[in-house]
Amino acid sequence: MSSFNIHGVPVSNGIAIGKAHLISNALLEVIHYQLDKNQVSSEIKRLSLAMNEVRKDLLKIKKQLQKDSSDEFSAFIDTHLMILADKNFSEKPKEIINKDSCNAEWALKKQMDFFISKFDKIEDEYIKERKNDVIQVVERILKVLLGHPSQSSQISKGNSAILVAHDISPADALQFKKHQYAAFLTDMGGSTSHTAILARSLNIPSIVALQNARDLIKNNEQIIVDGNQGIVIINPSKEILKEYHVRQNLWGIEQQKLSKIKNIQSKTLNNEKIELLANIEVPGDMDSVKDNGASGIGLFRTEFLFMNRKELPNEEEQFKIYKSVARSMKGKTVVIRTLDSGADKLTSADTTISANPALGLRAIRLCLSEPQLFNIQLRAILRASKFGKIKILIPMLSSLSELRQTKLLIERAKKSLNNQKILYNNNIKIGGMIEVPAVAINADLFAQELDFLSIGTNDLIQYTLAIDRTDDRVSHLYNPLHPAILKLINITIKAGKKYNKEVSICGEMAGDFKLTKLLLGMGLRHFSMHPSRILSVKKQVLNSNTQKLLPWSTKILKTKESENIETLIHKMNQ
Ligand code: PEP
Ligand code: MG
Repeated sequence: MSSFNIHGVPVSNGIAIGKAHLISNALLEVIHYQLDKNQVSSEIKRLSLAMNEVRKDLLKIKKQLQKDSSDEFSAFIDTHLMILADKNFSEKPKEIINKDSCNAEWALKKQMDFFISKFDKIEDEYIKERKNDVIQVVERILKVLLGHPSQSSQISKGNSAILVAHDISPADALQFKKHQYAAFLTDMGGSTSHTAILARSLNIPSIVALQNARDLIKNNEQIIVDGNQGIVIINPSKEILKEYHVRQNLWGIEQQKLSKIKNIQSKTLNNEKIELLANIEVPGDMDSVKDNGASGIGLFRTEFLFMNRKELPNEEEQFKIYKSVARSMKGKTVVIRTLDSGADKLTSADTTISANPALGLRAIRLCLSEPQLFNIQLRAILRASKFGKIKILIPMLSSLSELRQTKLLIERAKKSLNNQKILYNNNIKIGGMIEVPAVAINADLFAQELDFLSIGTNDLIQYTLAIDRTDDRVSHLYNPLHPAILKLINITIKAGKKYNKEVSICGEMAGDFKLTKLLLGMGLRHFSMHPSRILSVKKQVLNSNTQKLLPWSTKILKTKESENIETLIHKMNQ
C-alpha cells in the first residue's frame, strides 16, 4: 500500500487519525450503516411506508394535473408510478436490507446504481433517458426516508471513522451531527459553503475542495486528516504516523490551554469590552455555546429546523425551540434570524429551484412571497421573546422597501397576538443582515431604520466578488481581504457608529483569529462565530489595544493589493 497526500481547503482545525468511511457516490449521498438482525423487519417496513407515501403523493399530483388539463405532465407521473410498481425496483431493495442488514437508504441506492449501470449500456437514447426518471423516483423516496429517520440512524460509527464524500448537501450534513465521525472530507465545496459551516459545527477536523479524494481513497484505508493545514495523508508510514500522534497530543494541549480563558472577561488591554457571540444551527449546539463561554447567540440560523422533513415546523414547535434557547441563555442576547431558505440550504419551503439559486427566491424574498409561512415564524419568535433577550434578524435584505414590508408583517403578527392577548416583548429589536453589496454601500440608510446591523461576510464576499461560495473551482478567488470587501465592512461599521447602532460580523471572518486585530482596529466590537472559534478570538482580544490598532487598520484600508494587506496583517499580529 503506497502512501500519498492530497490537499484541500481546511475548514475546521484539529488532527484525526482513523479509517476511511466512504459514502455513496450518486446524486443524493446516503449514509451506510449496519443494523442488528432484530431491526431488519422494521427497516423493511420503513421503506414500504416511504414508497407508499410517494405513491400517494404522485397520485395526488396526477389528479391535480388532470384537473389543470396538463396531460403531458401527467404522463411523466405515470412513468414514475410505473417505476414504483416494478417489482425489481420496489422489492429488490427489501431483499438487500434482509441480506445485508443495511439501512433502507443504502439498499435503495444500491439497487438504483444497478439500474443505472444497465441503462448506461442501452443504445436507444429514449430508453437511456428513463434513467433520470428512476433517479427522480429514488430521490422522492429518499426525501421521505430522511424526513422519518430510523432509530438505527443514531448508531455510532465509532469515533475513529473518517467520513469521505464527493459532495453533500447542508441537509445531509445536518444528519451527520448525529454520528460520531473523527473527521470530515469532501471533494467539493468552498470554505464558507453551508456544508463547510456545518462540518465546522461538528467540531471535528474537516477539509473540503479535495477534488478527487472520493476516488483516490478506499474504504477502510488508514488516513491522517490534518485540518490545520488542509492535508490528508493516505496509508501513512510508521514514522509519519508517530509524528502525527505527537502533533495530535500537542494540539490537545493547546486546546486545553485555551480553555483556561473561557471565564475571563473579553476585554482589550485598554479596557474595551468586546462581545463574542456564538452562531448556532440547531438547539443541540447549545452545549458548545456554553463550553466556550459565549456571551450570547449572535446568529441562530433557523432554516436548519426546516430541513429533512416534509411538513414545515408549526408555530408551537418553533415557539418551544426559540423559548428553550432563550431560557437557557438566561437573559443573554439571542439573535434569531428569520428563515434563510434557498440557494444551497433547501427546505420544503423551496418549491422551485432557479438556475441561479443564490440570486433567486431565497431568505427574506421567499418569506415576503409566502406571508403565511413567515407569519408563523414571526409569531413564534415574538411569543418566545417574553422568555429572554431575543432579537429578530432579517437575512439578505436588498432594498429599504423589503425592510419596510418586513416591519409591516412584524407589526401585523404583533397585532394578531394582541388580539389573542398573548404576551410578547413589544420592544423587540429588529436587525438586518448586511450581505448584499447594495445594502453595505447604503448602510447609513439602513442604520437609520434598523436597531442593529449584522454583516454576513460569507454572502457579502460571494455577491461582491461574484464568486459562488459553494463552487470549489473558484474557491481560490474567494477573498475576505479583497480591498473592496474591507471597504464595505468599513462603510457599515461607520454607519453604525454614526447612528449609534450596534454592528456585528456573523460571517466566517468573525471567527478567523488572524483577522481579529484588523476588525478591532476598524472599530468592530461585536463578533459572532462558530462556538469553537470563540476562545482563539478571545486570546487575540486579550492581547489587543484598540488605540494602537487604529493606525494599522487605517493603513490597511488604503492598501490596494490583497497580498500587501496580508503582509500588513501578519505584521500587525506579531
Ligand atoms: C453570511 O452570509 O455571512 C451569513 C452569516 O449567513 P449564511 O452563512 O447563513 O448565509
Ligand atoms: Mg448569508
